[in-house]
Amino acid sequence: MSYKKTFNLNNSYAKELQEISEKCIPTGFKQAEFLLKNYDLAEKLGFTKNFLDSKECLNIFSGNSLLKNSQPIAQGYSGHQFGHFNPQLGDGRAILLGEIDGMDIQLKGIGQTPYSRRGDGKSALSPVLREYLISEFMHAVKIPTTRSLFALKTNENVMRETQLPGGVLTRVAKSHIRIGTFEYARTKSNETLKILANYSINRHYPELNKTDNKYLSFFAAVCDKQASLISKWMSLGFVHGVMNTDNMTISGETIDYGPCAFMDTYDPKTVFSSIDHNGRYSYQNQPAILIWNLAKFAETLIPLVDENEEISVKKLTEVLQLVMPSYQEYFYIELGQKLGLENINNNTKIIDEYLKILHSESIDFTLSFRNLAKIVDKSITTSNSVFNKSKNFSTWYNSWIKEINIKTVSKKINLKNPYFIPRNHHVENALMNAIGGDMKEINLMAELLKDPFTEKDEYEIYATPSSSSEPYITYCGT
Ligand code: AMP
Ligand code: MG
Repeated sequence: MSYKKTFNLNNSYAKELQEISEKCIPTGFKQAEFLLKNYDLAEKLGFTKNFLDSKECLNIFSGNSLLKNSQPIAQGYSGHQFGHFNPQLGDGRAILLGEIDGMDIQLKGIGQTPYSRRGDGKSALSPVLREYLISEFMHAVKIPTTRSLFALKTNENVMRETQLPGGVLTRVAKSHIRIGTFEYARTKSNETLKILANYSINRHYPELNKTDNKYLSFFAAVCDKQASLISKWMSLGFVHGVMNTDNMTISGETIDYGPCAFMDTYDPKTVFSSIDHNGRYSYQNQPAILIWNLAKFAETLIPLVDENEEISVKKLTEVLQLVMPSYQEYFYIELGQKLGLENINNNTKIIDEYLKILHSESIDFTLSFRNLAKIVDKSITTSNSVFNKSKNFSTWYNSWIKEINIKTVSKKINLKNPYFIPRNHHVENALMNAIGGDMKEINLMAELLKDPFTEKDEYEIYATPSSSSEPYITYCGT
């Protein structure tokens, strides 16, 4: 593996957005050690192998010394959490060190910041490792996401309901600008809002500077990115779990892997998070919540789109109304590809029918697509597949087979549908072992999830759903 010799750290956010950020030096964890290092990502960022293995690297990413030229800050943001506006959130446990090649380098769980409110600014180790594993899997299946560069164990405990080992994650993102960042800027002044909007456009959508109404185009561009993103989540059975406006980026990357998890059996009502009592962020509600969040985003942009508030609202509303149809289109393309359909437009009924079968017969979502490829290939029979008890499958299969190319379909399906996903019971087991000091399991899972489309017979167990009928419950990682 070769590494570039140097990298340059910029501090554009710290310089241009002082109104909505606070200078903040990490306190640091003296006893910290690396548990997971993402060599591929480090290489992309230009870190040398020598640097990665140095004491200096450990000191920097455990917050004990600063990267050269770093002007660390905590970013302010507001947010609608479960529908309720909280004007004062912000990086309560994260510090941005700066940007390398336009990518934010952030330490999460690094101690108190001016936005910590009553929190300790720290993170338990288990959610750090969980975010590392799941975000890197999302990257491997080509879903836009923040990335994980390092997971560290602090060798200090954090006090939650009990004492838990602490951890720090180095998160890499196109930026950490959220809808909530706009909500926060709006509480300051229209001038601050404009600076943030211009900064965001220049950083993420520079081509929009040429459009007639760049703020309206910006809104449309974010809507489009997010509609595409949520369609990809849905196509993978991903339930984010805490789609608050402060957890939704304007770059279109998935952010904040708290209580998220993947659905095994297909059930649109699936909820994992222990705090989501009403299913606000259930699997099936994610597209509607997307629209809700984008409406909040639109509200922040009213002063920028037109001097006349009424006209501004009208224009933003027109764009917003296009999001659900556009999401639907993205969703059917994703699902059509998962089923290897030749012509997706005319075949949304086949997709709907398929999902109905999965639902009514409680079939494993992920496995079903790979099984389909095997049935076509005749490497398994229907009675050996997840469809073995299905009453409606053969009728559906006969209509589907007419809409695919029998020669190429299984290859197509296998390239689109991962064999491995972070199965909940395996993730929990790997985390439990890691917390106990045994990294074998989590290292293996990290390797398998890096290459999730390749079937590996000897690791079939990792592609298999849990046999337990107990519902899986997740907790916010604070
Ligand atoms: P999250 O659940 O990660 O989306 O965080 C929601 C808000 O709570 C953000 O403003 C976080 O910075 C803040 N927060 C979460 N955990 C802590 C903590 N341990 N200390 C301080 N702030 C926290
Ligand atoms: Mg958050």
